[in-house]
Amino acid sequence: MIRQDYDLSACNTLRLPARAQLWGEFSDVSELLTLLSAAAASHWPVRVLGGGSNVLLAGDIPGLVICPRMAGVQVLRQTAEFSWVAAEAGLSWHDWVVQSTAYGHGLENLALIPGTVGAAPVQNIGAYGAEAADFIDSVTGVQLSSRQLRTLSAAECRFAYRDSVFKRELARDFVITRVVFRLPRQFAPQLSYGPLATWSATAVVTPQSLIEEISRIRRSKLPDPQQIPNAGSFFKNPVVSAAQAAGLQREHPQLPCYPQAGGDVKLAAGWLIEQAGWKGRWSGHAGMHRDQALVLVTDGTAVYTDVERLQQQVQADVLSRFGVQLEPEPQLF
Ligand code: FAD
Ligand code: NAP
Repeated sequence: MIRQDYDLSACNTLRLPARAQLWGEFSDVSELLTLLSAAAASHWPVRVLGGGSNVLLAGDIPGLVICPRMAGVQVLRQTAEFSWVAAEAGLSWHDWVVQSTAYGHGLENLALIPGTVGAAPVQNIGAYGAEAADFIDSVTGVQLSSRQLRTLSAAECRFAYRDSVFKRELARDFVITRVVFRLPRQFAPQLSYGPLATWSATAVVTPQSLIEEISRIRRSKLPDPQQIPNAGSFFKNPVVSAAQAAGLQREHPQLPCYPQAGGDVKLAAGWLIEQAGWKGRWSGHAGMHRDQALVLVTDGTAVYTDVERLQQQVQADVLSRFGVQLEPEPQLF
């Protein structure tokens, strides 16, 4: 069923006000194709929304906004080393992480990331040294321009740091319906990030205890979108050349630098924002969070222009202080 003039303010974790001209939910591929046929017949533009935890709503959305509701899990194949498991797009990401440990491992570090399985490949979600791409075998969905079902291999998804083909050539042209994960059956936890290294020195590390610890750390540092509207990290960590990083580190010896494969260096955007004086500082109805400067929060009454103004102020101050251009992580919807 297609609904008209649908309120999206509760469908995005920044709680920005917006309405969709039309709204449709689908529970399988055939319902999706029916929605897409109706959209094609009426020339409606189509956008897909999951949990709304990584989008910026700049105003009312013309056309049809669709939302996957299917949430099944199916084991496709198992060997002594790996399980291949398909998870459907509408499943809550965190629920999938918890379920996944029955089949294999690796997703534990990605516990408590908000949103849906279908959105995970889009920005190749990552946390605590793991990223979804490490465990994705293939992604299936419907390409809007052809209305054909397609399966992309992991290589075709062109995953990179918080990036994929779904943010580039296939942006706004592909509805992910399911993701196949290849999960190692042996538990070999990734514990390199500081808080996990400290915890694991004395803890009994099991898949369940790791999920609990990650959840505990995240709850202690990050604002809960149910209480304080936010979209997680608002800016991507900038990746700069080794020469630029070395120059910056000479001027700012405390600057956290993380060398990347290939020679470039990742900087911590939160540190740059804090040093630029924005930690806990507000501009109108939006501010940078007092505990984590990388998270833009609102007072619940903000509109897109409040967020855009703060984004530009922070970008300008970081650029003038460090010569580094910050790019927002959430995408304009
Ligand atoms: P949405 O916000 O609904 O959509 C995001 C984008 O994906 C949009 O462009 C949308 O069109 C597209 N999309 C959504 N579903 C589909 C689909 N089925 N097919 C095709 N395109 C689709 N991200 C991280 O990487 N690591 C973190 O640790 C992390 N922590 C966070 C913590 C908090 C408190 C918050 C609020 C956000 C955090 N995020 C993090 C960002 C966000 O949770 C992820 O990017 C998540 O994958 C978004 O899922 P979603 O379902 O809410 O997507
Ligand atoms: P943190 O541990 O305070 O670290 C700050 C930044 O330094 C992180 O962004 C992280 O980069 C980087 N970093 C820290 N230790 C590193 C290491 N050993 N190797 C390489 N890079 C390292 O970060 P936090 O804010 O508490 O977040 C913890 C994790 O959750 C991070 O991985 C972060 O990406 C993720 N997270 C993401 C979002 C989002 O919306 N995207 C929101 C909240 C948390 P990376 O970000 O590249 O890991």
